[in-house]
Amino acid sequence: MKPPPPWIAAQVRQLLAQRGHAWLLQGPSGLGQYSLALELARAWLCDQPAAQGACGQCASCHAVDVRAHTDLCVLMPETIMLELGWPLGEKAQQDLDEKKRKPSKEIRVDAMRDAVEFAQRTSGRGRGKVVLVYPAERMNHVTANTLLKTLEEPAGDLRFVLASEAAHQLLPTIRSRCLGHTMTWPEESAALAWLQAQGIKPADAPALLRAAGGRPEDALSFAQAGRDAKVWAVLPKALARGDAAALADWTPAEAVSALQKICHDLMAVKTGGAPRFFQASDLPAAASFAALTAWARELANTARTVEHPFNAGLMLETLVSQARSALNSRP
Ligand SMILES: [Zn+2]
Repeated sequence: MKPPPPWIAAQVRQLLAQRGHAWLLQGPSGLGQYSLALELARAWLCDQPAAQGACGQCASCHAVDVRAHTDLCVLMPETIMLELGWPLGEKAQQDLDEKKRKPSKEIRVDAMRDAVEFAQRTSGRGRGKVVLVYPAERMNHVTANTLLKTLEEPAGDLRFVLASEAAHQLLPTIRSRCLGHTMTWPEESAALAWLQAQGIKPADAPALLRAAGGRPEDALSFAQAGRDAKVWAVLPKALARGDAAALADWTPAEAVSALQKICHDLMAVKTGGAPRFFQASDLPAAASFAALTAWARELANTARTVEHPFNAGLMLETLVSQARSALNSRP
């Protein structure tokens, strides 16, 4: 496994220095909740852990790295398990292979039952057991309550790490059973250096990081989804010209999110603030504040139904035309 980025490594050290059998890692997406949760689990299970974390060499570390540690139970929605390369349970895999259902976007009740069984077993390698839940807000009421019972009576050697982008949606009783840790934002220079180490061109890294609002992992996924730093920088002005090609290969959800960022930055500039997602020079001349407010409302409405657009092509056309009229409104 690659060493974690420096801002994650610092948080691993910080959390390992404290005693806690249940951690709740919280903060916005793209700051590395999952990496931190996994590093913590790896360190807890490691045969020769050091203050900075797992050794990376022992049989336990190896078992975590190949996703086959008997004392680590990961609870995630199936879509995320597949994305991150975790094996599904036998029954779940069979259901998907036979196309009985689609991969679940929630943490399934069946997976939670397996986790309860796991909690009751004795540790296979003798260094305790770990349950990792990510993203914890994807538990429904039934799964959350089952987890709560396990949290309330943890077997002596069982530890938990929950990671969430929306900790406020968790049951208060779950939150209160965990020690909370708010994810640290990386310094811009550290985030840029890390992006370059992942193969991003030095010239592109700043715009990608800006596009992701300063969240390095989101910036990397954005680049990996084929998004170009140069295209991002010219997007606001292209939309002001009504250039529909600018959004042609974007999904409606990606398009709405990009438009919300443009709208956010124009409103920020309008009220004397600094843009967050673009450089000031990327933005078209100031539009009317009333038009921007109305546009922000339209985008928020669209965002609610964007996962199930009636007609994606038509939706993109509407989005471009709304953008054009808002961006060309004159104060
Ligand atoms: Zn190790």
